[in-house]
Amino acid sequence: MKQDILYIVVPCYNEQEVLPITTPKLIEQLNALVEAQLIDKESRILYVNDGSIDDTWQLIEQYTQQHPQVCGVKLAGNVGHQNALLAGLEAASERADITISIDADLQDDVAVMRDMVQKYHEGCDIVYGVRRERKTDTWFKRNSALAFYKLMRRLGVKSVYNHADYRLMSRRAVKQLLNYRERNLFLRGIVPLVGYRTDSVFYDRSERLAGESKYPLSKMINFAVNGITSFSIKPVRMVLTLGIIFTLIALGILVYVLIAYFSGRTVSGWASLILSLWFIGGCVLIGLGIVGEYIGKIYIEVKDRPRYNIEKEIIQ
Ligand code: UDP
Ligand code: MG
Repeated sequence: MKQDILYIVVPCYNEQEVLPITTPKLIEQLNALVEAQLIDKESRILYVNDGSIDDTWQLIEQYTQQHPQVCGVKLAGNVGHQNALLAGLEAASERADITISIDADLQDDVAVMRDMVQKYHEGCDIVYGVRRERKTDTWFKRNSALAFYKLMRRLGVKSVYNHADYRLMSRRAVKQLLNYRERNLFLRGIVPLVGYRTDSVFYDRSERLAGESKYPLSKMINFAVNGITSFSIKPVRMVLTLGIIFTLIALGILVYVLIAYFSGRTVSGWASLILSLWFIGGCVLIGLGIVGEYIGKIYIEVKDRPRYNIEKEIIQ
């Protein structure tokens, strides 16, 4: 019987130190899954070279010749982790029934791929790999990530806590994902919007095998800001709220000023000045908030996201 074809999609940016360690591990895992008859022997590892400036692509080319399981896609330039991953998923979706995305540094445990595939066979379209603890991350990375997840949740963005981009997606989930046509990609936020049946598998995250993190602080901040502003227009609403609060304060000050004025405790000119300061401030913020609300709408519209994803159809 023909099994489902799995593609393991791995974005790589300057990973020449890591690939020689990663490749045998992934091949071993892939072979184990084939032997367990969980996936077809046509399954592949797909490296996406994200415009690396070291020898990453030469290595990938070499592996494709040495191992029939390895294939590669070379992007013309560096487009960032999220876009590189999407490029890989798109390329894989033409041939694969299942995709699993994983970082090249194998900080995520490849052993749980088996559980992922099993959950897929049980009927899940998306299976998230979730880290149990973050012992190996620095204090700063752990806590900044935690604060970020909390903030995202507050702002109304659905995302899976402690899940990075290690996940299994079925072919139809990937196809739906490709319908989200936005430029500012934040996959962790979009994948939950796809819907379908999801589940999680848990593992401990380990250290990077070799090389350095490709996510320095500046990129992390960028990623966080992007994640928030791509999914939420709540920051704009906050301006409106602030404007209303300021106007209310102006009303309070009005009362205070009147009392002070009539009891003769004021320097001349102070009353009108302080009052107008708060009042105008409030008005400006309300105005900005209203304009922002419309811009927010335009912003949501230009994303041109699909309005719904159909999971099943029974039309006879
Ligand atoms: N990556 C990429 N393009 C980039 C930056 C990173 O494709 O511009 C890849 C990188 O090769 C790795 C993954 O994204 O496979 C995650 O990067 P890294 O492990 O450095 O991030 P960290 O685990 O430190 O957050
Ligand atoms: Mg990493």
